[in-house]
Amino acid sequence: MFDRLKILYQLQILDDHLDELEELRGDLPNAVVSLEDRVNSLKEDIRRKDKERLGSVEKREENEKEIEKLKANQKKFKAQLYQVRNNKEYDALTKEIDHNETQVSKLEAENDSLADLSKSLADEIENIKPLLEELKEELKVKAADLKEIVKANEKEEAKLSTHRKEIQDKVKKPDYSAYMRIRKAKHGMAVSTIRRSACSGCNNIVPSQRQLEIRRNNKLFYCEYCGRILVSTEISEKIEA
Ligand SMILES: [Zn+2]
Repeated sequence: MFDRLKILYQLQILDDHLDELEELRGDLPNAVVSLEDRVNSLKEDIRRKDKERLGSVEKREENEKEIEKLKANQKKFKAQLYQVRNNKEYDALTKEIDHNETQVSKLEAENDSLADLSKSLADEIENIKPLLEELKEELKVKAADLKEIVKANEKEEAKLSTHRKEIQDKVKKPDYSAYMRIRKAKHGMAVSTIRRSACSGCNNIVPSQRQLEIRRNNKLFYCEYCGRILVSTEISEKIEA
């Protein structure tokens, strides 16, 4: 039982060190991730708008060709007007000419709005670009800062992580789940000890009868105030020494 309690306290000390290293990074990891997200979403915006712009250019070219074709037909029809032999032919031909004209104006109007669209898309893209450059620069700086901090503690962190893995393997499964659950709920500190008759986690006085029991190191006790696993000073001093 002594070892079972000792190993839990050891795990806590290791996690404290790892937490300290992580704290050195501050908000940088989050900042880098959120900058990456924003950069990617702006790039995607530009890509999407440019695709739409190219689509409108293509459609306009298609329309131009169609307009040319219609206008050529128009010339032909108009020439034919001089050769009609009766009213019926004349009516059919003018109907055709009117229809062609309507088609041409429809396509020309469509091309006007397509031109407006590609112009405003191009403007939007130009407006996004400076912001994208700014964010890319900010990301570059923050990522470099983070890399430097990570690199500075790389070896220590690797050593601590390896050690933690070894310790974790020795912790009983239910103890480990309890430890992780409390750690999550209590900002990282799952195991506390007794200092000046109080729980080192919440500073509440531990009743003397309970202190006596804890000192026997033969049972897992939880602080009745904060719910942390409470180990004796004998154990904590041994680990901290
Ligand atoms: Zn407590």
